[in-house]
Amino acid sequence: MEQLKGKTILIGKEPSQGRLLVALPGSGKSAAIGLPGSVPASVSRCRPAEGIAHAKISIDQSGNIILTNLKSQNATYVNGSEIESKRIVTDSLVSLGKDHFAVSVPLILETARKLVAVGQERPQTPGDSGAKRFNIAHLEHVWNDLIARRKEVQAKQKQINLVRSGCGVFTMCAMPCIFLFGPIGYVLTGIGIIGNIYSFVGLKNDDASDVLERLNEDFQDRYVCPNPDCNKFLGNLSYRLLKRQYSMHCPYCKCEYVEK
Ligand SMILES: [Zn+2]
Repeated sequence: MEQLKGKTILIGKEPSQGRLLVALPGSGKSAAIGLPGSVPASVSRCRPAEGIAHAKISIDQSGNIILTNLKSQNATYVNGSEIESKRIVTDSLVSLGKDHFAVSVPLILETARKLVAVGQERPQTPGDSGAKRFNIAHLEHVWNDLIARRKEVQAKQKQINLVRSGCGVFTMCAMPCIFLFGPIGYVLTGIGIIGNIYSFVGLKNDDASDVLERLNEDFQDRYVCPNPDCNKFLGNLSYRLLKRQYSMHCPYCKCEYVEK
């Protein structure tokens, strides 16, 4: 709480993804809480750059927390009663909008405290949300590598099958030669049979399903969330689809993904 004394926190609906946005006006720092689309339309948008929000929370030098509704068409409630401006405590029940979207005061304060702390640790770039960010560009190589290696296995498999059927045809053609050319026919048939055995053994030694299994295991170890606290497998979908499906956020730990 010490770090928040004298600070003002804006809260409202995040314009782009509909999460709860917590912003420190004038600092360019904000962070979103919850899942995309979780905040109803009755909560006003928060645009910290323009000083617009649903409500603000001010903490004075004594540590008093004051909640203020920012627009007359908004509704802000404390413990079920509509307020314009009211002193609250951390376990006050605060809700926003006519749908009574409940927000957690301790979570908002903790998020704001982290935003303040982040600014002191490293310089901020404008628009930095303060959320954890991880580069996922390397996953494109991991995916492309899987596809290339799968194709390799399939091509090899095709080649083996071709040799096998070729040897079979050769043997079938060589056998009648025994009657026509005698010893030469035996030699040709012998070559055909050896070829058959060789391709069969070759196929066994190089079992494609084993190779594919190892390939998949390796892929599942590498195609993971780059957040070391998460590290979950991101599924059998292409890099392009992954970016679209998860809208550049980990579906497990919710960290933000970037491409550098
Ligand atoms: Zn993750």
